[in-house]
Amino acid sequence: MPPGWRRWSLWLLLAALVLAMLAILVYLAGRYEASQVQSRLERDTAEALGDIRSGLARNIQSLQALQASRPSAANWTEAAADLLREHREFMRIEWRDPNLRVLASADTPYRVALFSLNGRESAQTDVGLACATARRFSGPAYSTSYFVPRADGLGLEVIELCIPQMTAGHVSSYLVATYALQEILSDLISKQVARSQEISFTEADGTRLALHGAARRGTRMFTAQQLLDLPGNTLVLRLDSWHSAPSLFPDVMSALVTVLSIGLVTVLLMLARDTRRRLAAEHDLADALAFRKAMEDSLVTGLRARDLQGRITYVNPAFCQMVGFGADELLGQSNPAPYWPPELAGEYEQRQAIRLAGNMPPREGFESVFMRKDGTLFPVLVIEAPLINAQGVQTGWMSAFLDMSEQRRIEELSRASQDRLQATARLATVGEMASLLSHELNQPLAAISSYATGSLNLLRHGGASADLGMALGRIAEQAERAGKVIKSVHDFVRRREHVREAVSVRSLLDAIMPLVTLQARKLGVRVLIELEPGLPEVLCDRTMVEQVLLNLARNGMQSMDRPDLRERVLRIEARHLGAGEQGGWLELRVGDQGPGISAEIADRLFTPFFTTKPEGMGLGLSLCRTVIEQHGGKLGFEAGHPGGTIFNFTLPLQKNSPG
Ligand code: ADP
Repeated sequence: MPPGWRRWSLWLLLAALVLAMLAILVYLAGRYEASQVQSRLERDTAEALGDIRSGLARNIQSLQALQASRPSAANWTEAAADLLREHREFMRIEWRDPNLRVLASADTPYRVALFSLNGRESAQTDVGLACATARRFSGPAYSTSYFVPRADGLGLEVIELCIPQMTAGHVSSYLVATYALQEILSDLISKQVARSQEISFTEADGTRLALHGAARRGTRMFTAQQLLDLPGNTLVLRLDSWHSAPSLFPDVMSALVTVLSIGLVTVLLMLARDTRRRLAAEHDLADALAFRKAMEDSLVTGLRARDLQGRITYVNPAFCQMVGFGADELLGQSNPAPYWPPELAGEYEQRQAIRLAGNMPPREGFESVFMRKDGTLFPVLVIEAPLINAQGVQTGWMSAFLDMSEQRRIEELSRASQDRLQATARLATVGEMASLLSHELNQPLAAISSYATGSLNLLRHGGASADLGMALGRIAEQAERAGKVIKSVHDFVRRREHVREAVSVRSLLDAIMPLVTLQARKLGVRVLIELEPGLPEVLCDRTMVEQVLLNLARNGMQSMDRPDLRERVLRIEARHLGAGEQGGWLELRVGDQGPGISAEIADRLFTPFFTTKPEGMGLGLSLCRTVIEQHGGKLGFEAGHPGGTIFNFTLPLQKNSPG
């Protein structure tokens, strides 16, 4: 069962108990009131009974007084009439002889004579029975009640009282008085009793004989009855009291209880409402706490709170993980903190003292070094802020920690890879140099080798020493060239500022001619050189441009190395292009009669290492283009006529050169 429900069920139980208690209180108050009414009624009944008894006893004395002076009939009648006037309860008084014959009688002046309708004889039996009883008791006796109908149709319930007059032990006469029961009720009982309740005589079975008193009011009836024992007759005196029912506010006590109950229920309701609000607030608070906890637990940032004395009051799981200590090992710890490296503890303590003195830390945080539980050190970024409570008072410091070791590792890695990259770049340069060297040195070495073979032949067959000297001179020339090539390639690859010099096209061609003719002879190619007369000098890196010419010439000659070709001519031309913005340009063209260059090959012509030849390296054209572009010129090619290919490139003229 959720705690909310348990609390509500307790409240419901309390409410039920209070309601039950109030209901019982109201019920008991009602009961108490009823019992009060009942006992008052019982008291009234007893009082009424007493009234009747004493009234009847007094009447007997008054009646006996009639006979006291042994009156004559006339006197008696007069005295009786007086008595009748005084006592409305008497209907008739008779003086009868021992045989019950009427000697004298008097009727009440307040009513029509009682026996005018049926005659006195109708009641003779009742009178006889009463007097017989009286004689037996030797004292007054009453008859049972009987109904006397009257002319007005109402009639009366009456009883007879018979008092025997004894003379020398014998009954000398009887006094018979007829009582109207209703008049007994109205005259003998005190008026107070009759005012608020209904008084009646009933028979034992409840049949009502006579009635007197207030008309019924209210709906709830209280009844009390007591027996009126008379010699010869027993009557039941009954008092009925009517009250409005149910009387919820019978008296002050009940009213008080009710007011208290209302107050209690109101307080209960208010408490219930308060509890409901409290529950809602608790629920919200629990939600907020759960949210905060989830947030703290999911953080990778370590969090730590310290009070103003520097004791740790809070750490989140990320912080514990970072330093390797459990929360229970950290909470409540003061200086030096367990995660401080012992050698730095002094410095940190000083830093903390400054902080606790109220100095704000830098907003962007500061770097520090912490120690894990296993003793390893690691860098952290610490960001501190004052901890302010709900009342706006600073209660401590909140710090956030970022473990910087991973970042440091990445930085280290990137530095290492940077170094590696540089080394790789250097290696690539070396590679490029090696490739170019092997490419460019091929020709001088091949030339040296072939001159050397020639020289050996001359030596072996005793050739002219002049020829031998020339061959050896060529070898030396080519060896020197190889040296220059090595230097130029080295400079080229290192992208050094190249040494530019003014050279004539003729001298460039002269420098490469021995190599070109050597290869031309081998391939059966005729080399034609057509130079425009009066060409100005060009400004260039001599060796590299010579290599360009050499490469283009060699490519052209190789393209014509086909058995079906009868005439193989390599045409090298040079012409002046005229002055441009930055001075004039000179164009050099190397044309062959080979198969030409297909569109497919043309696309990849200048890509390094692209070659169609079995021993080719595919570096020649890419080197040529780079060299020419470094001079500010352009290298291109076009189809020759009738066939073949013409490679052309431009070189800048020396500004001050003539022409
Ligand atoms: P390599 O000569 O080592 O193959 P190059 O860069 O000098 O490298 O030439 C690349 C390719 O271009 C050659 O393999 C060849 O197919 C083509 N090529 C170059 N010059 C000519 C030319 N004059 N005629 C036809 N094809 C040529």
